[in-house]
Amino acid sequence: MKEKMKSNNALKIAVIGGGASGLTAAIFAAREAKKIGKNVKVTVYEGNSRIGKKILVTGNGRCNFTNENISSVNYHGETALAQSICEKFTNEDVKEFFCSLGLFSKSDFAGRVYPMSNQATAVLDALRFELIRLGIEEVTDTKIVSLKKDSHGFILNERYHCDKCIIATGGKAAPVQGSDGSGFILLKDFGIEVSSLLPALTPIVCEDFTKSLKGIRAQGKISIKCGGKLLSEDTGEIQYTDYGLSGIPSMQVSRFVSGTLNVNKTDVFAFVDSCPFFTADELKSALLTIIKNNPSLPGEMLLSGIMPKRLGMTLLSECSVNPSKNIGIIHDAVLDRIVSAVKNKKYKVTAVKGFNDAQVTSGGIVGKEINFDTLELKKVKGIYVCGEIVDVDGDCGGYNLQWAWSSGAAAGINSVRGFDKCFV
Ligand SMILES: Cc1cc2nc3c(=O)[nH]c(=O)nc-3n(C[C@H](O)[C@H](O)[C@H](O)COP(=O)(O)OP(=O)(O)OC[C@H]3O[C@@H](n4cnc5c(N)ncnc54)[C@H](O)[C@@H]3O)c2cc1C
Repeated sequence: MKEKMKSNNALKIAVIGGGASGLTAAIFAAREAKKIGKNVKVTVYEGNSRIGKKILVTGNGRCNFTNENISSVNYHGETALAQSICEKFTNEDVKEFFCSLGLFSKSDFAGRVYPMSNQATAVLDALRFELIRLGIEEVTDTKIVSLKKDSHGFILNERYHCDKCIIATGGKAAPVQGSDGSGFILLKDFGIEVSSLLPALTPIVCEDFTKSLKGIRAQGKISIKCGGKLLSEDTGEIQYTDYGLSGIPSMQVSRFVSGTLNVNKTDVFAFVDSCPFFTADELKSALLTIIKNNPSLPGEMLLSGIMPKRLGMTLLSECSVNPSKNIGIIHDAVLDRIVSAVKNKKYKVTAVKGFNDAQVTSGGIVGKEINFDTLELKKVKGIYVCGEIVDVDGDCGGYNLQWAWSSGAAAGINSVRGFDKCFV
């Protein structure tokens, strides 16, 4: 009976969206309430049948949950907001937070941090059990489709009352995981400005792409140019598909492709360097040495010590090199063509893959709508926002989840502290 009364009198915080940022917001709201002795009931409303579905597919099922090197240069959109929030709950704080939940981490050569178990499920389980420990209610299979303000707070779906509301519905990327952009619709009636929403961290589509390359994974550098101007470049493992380029380098440059194609439908090119370890001169001299030392080798062998054989064969056939004829007959002009094909293969870019294939959304609630200290909306006191719904997106490498954890923690803590300001 006493417990019931306590719960009836509790101030209610509703978190809309049980993804990375929403779960963190719920945990930090409940922890803050305990810390300052406030009677607060936190409830997470999730449209899917279970929380954290997207966390399970991150990092190819391994969940690259932060990076050892977090800097504003890794963020786009409202970079000042990203920097200030990520400085308050840093990558070290994230590791410590998960460590306190029993989840240890390890990092790779690029500073990408993963659970020691290499399993994204471990991250979700850690969050799930902390929710239970803190008595946070999960209401699943409940998509919030309306959010109205009344004199006491807010009403969700004409049914659930709350005093404060944290919107953590994600953006529009990967809608199969639940983030279908419905959070933006909830905010429409409040007149909140949202910048253009575009898919980011997504594969790029090239005109007349050589289908036989499909399935190849090879080290390389992708440079995106428009009107001869370099827009972006990245080096790493390129994944060749039947429509174009995927893999981390393609994802990293894709936001510049979609941004440019959005205003200029033509004239965007991807240049692939399939041997970034050598300059063009070094490559030519290495090939000359191979030819000089082994003139009777068949053409198909010329590039096989440098890149996957199938990729090399395709590039050589585009330079009219006969795979079965001796490399000794290759003359200088053909060798220059080979070097150019390896170092600077040009593809016309026609599109990027859409939200279904994107890892993240570029664009979202603009900074001027948000109080940078608390993540509360300036126009609607009592609504806080966090995660991908805000106009912040990060590079590939753990930066997006870092933003989700940091902004979730900030929204959660401030939603509880805000009670003293607004509702006493
Ligand atoms: C395939 C893939 C791999 C990725 N890998 C990485 C990685 O390794 N590292 C990294 O840093 N980032 C990665 N990301 C990006 C990262 O997962 C997201 O940026 C991050 O999850 C965003 O968190 P969020 O809480 O803002 O949104 P989400 O994780 O999208 O969560 C939003 C939640 O809200 C729910 N929801 C939406 N609308 C409503 C509504 N109206 N009512 C109720 N519930 C609603 C959704 O069902 C969802 O559960 C990856 C993304 C994808 C798609």
